[in-house]
Amino acid sequence: MNLRKLIIYLIMIFGFAFSPAQAFTPIQKNIIRESLIRNNAGSFVTVIDCVITDQYAYTQLGGNQIYLDSVKFKDAPNTLANTVSHEVSHTQGNQHGDGSYMMNYSITLDQYGKIINDQKIW
Ligand SMILES: [Zn+2]
Repeated sequence: MNLRKLIIYLIMIFGFAFSPAQAFTPIQKNIIRESLIRNNAGSFVTVIDCVITDQYAYTQLGGNQIYLDSVKFKDAPNTLANTVSHEVSHTQGNQHGDGSYMMNYSITLDQYGKIINDQKIW
């Protein structure tokens, strides 16, 4: 194996090892975009797809970055839309249980911890 091949080989291995290697599907992108518009998210609110092991989505209170694990929402488009609404509400400074829009919302899971698709978009 020459040096050039070795370098390409190493880039391939470490590229796969360290990149999240996931992205929102085109349908998910549309759902997220519609939800951001519907909820009057500010221009600086961004939704980031990342691997989250202990939650499904989160937003730092008053922050502009919403983190979602797209794979967990792949069979739950309505739940994705509602979750984005909930997280946008966090970017607007609202907290769980404070009575604000979507702050009483929670994701429903089946017995295996898989997200159940909501019946409707709130
Ligand atoms: Zn929340």
